[in-house]
Amino acid sequence: MTPPSVRRGVAILGSTGSIGATALRVLDRQQDRFRVTALTAFNNAALLAEQAARFRPPFVGIVRNGVDSSSGWHVGAECLVEAARRDDVDVVINAVVGAAGLDATLAALERGKRVALANKETLVMAGELVTEACSKGGGEIVPVDSEHSAILQCITGRPGVEVSRVIITASGGPFRQWSAERLEQATLEDALRHPTWRMGRKITVDCATLANKALEVIEAHFLFGLSYDRIEVVVHPQSVVHSFVEFIDGSVLAQVGVPSMELPVLYALTHPDRVADSGVPRFDPVSMSPLTFEPLRAEQFPAFALGVAAGRSGGGAPAVFNAANEAAVELFLAGRIKYGDIGVAIASALEALGHVSGENREAVLAADDAARRHVQERFGC
Ligand code: NAD
Ligand code: MG
Repeated sequence: MTPPSVRRGVAILGSTGSIGATALRVLDRQQDRFRVTALTAFNNAALLAEQAARFRPPFVGIVRNGVDSSSGWHVGAECLVEAARRDDVDVVINAVVGAAGLDATLAALERGKRVALANKETLVMAGELVTEACSKGGGEIVPVDSEHSAILQCITGRPGVEVSRVIITASGGPFRQWSAERLEQATLEDALRHPTWRMGRKITVDCATLANKALEVIEAHFLFGLSYDRIEVVVHPQSVVHSFVEFIDGSVLAQVGVPSMELPVLYALTHPDRVADSGVPRFDPVSMSPLTFEPLRAEQFPAFALGVAAGRSGGGAPAVFNAANEAAVELFLAGRIKYGDIGVAIASALEALGHVSGENREAVLAADDAARRHVQERFGC
């Protein structure tokens, strides 16, 4: 594909994080096609300043702290939506962690922009609102998550009716083979030791509890319009097959590659096209061998089943699941609860609040808030 005559403007929300840094490396190599027009971060002003000096975007936003007013930066939580709405932004890479990314996703979709979505929590908590904003505003959601990027790459160009089932792969995380007794002793350090991926702390813990896989099942439901009966999960410890799609004639396609977020980020920018890129590690089947698959041990990972059940219930339940998980993971990262308490906290929040409504933005935010308070009050003391 030849580079277009006008470069597309890209905003990176959460540029100082793991996906944000990957996105900047991709954009650095793809300067013929894209230019960085906005960057935002939570509070890492030093790294954000370095990125701003290097890429010179017209808009820089920081949510909190330590910036003097002469910097010209936009300060406060609204900077995410401001960046997402800008006329010089064609693509919003939403690489924020957690529910904080919701309004920016909605704002970008309402303005007809492409959202390259890493921030899966947004789609989980408010899947109906987000897909509605997308169809009304003429925007487009392209997943950055490697499993969903794989599915998209397998189905692009095919009508939805030809897809019979998707099988999402899961590495199984650091506790894949741990017994129930050993899991009771699991520490934060153990949970942060992911076998195949280097990521931010929140998603790394989600991979240890398998809450991440439940988030991904719900994400697939909304992205591809598939009923939950047509979404399965298999454990694949090597993280080389990024997911499978089965078609109605029985054929199964998979997208494979070295575990790296470079390709999913690049593809989210260029979909449905493919462009030459030197940053994606090349695949060698022999050195990647053997590839193995095994069932998910749901009984050891309660967060997974709770999340999928919340997805199936619909309404405000996915927002409650997501917020309870975020709040519990925050407590776990702060050393205030044990690993096993994460699943207990999610179950408790869903039992108390699982039937709340999720019919509009206010209801979703109320469900989110109630679940966070529930976990804080019961488990945070
Ligand atoms: P991270 O913690 O490394 O980075 C998060 C970014 O979001 C940072 O730039 C931070 O400044 C910003 N941020 C955090 N809280 C914020 C708030 N309240 N308001 C505004 N900005 C805020 O996380 P990450 O690993 O890059 O993950 C980002 C998202 O991508 C998550 O939703 C995660 O599930 C998803 N994801 C990540 C990976 C990966 O490989 N890291 C893979 C798939 C999906
Ligand atoms: Mg994933």
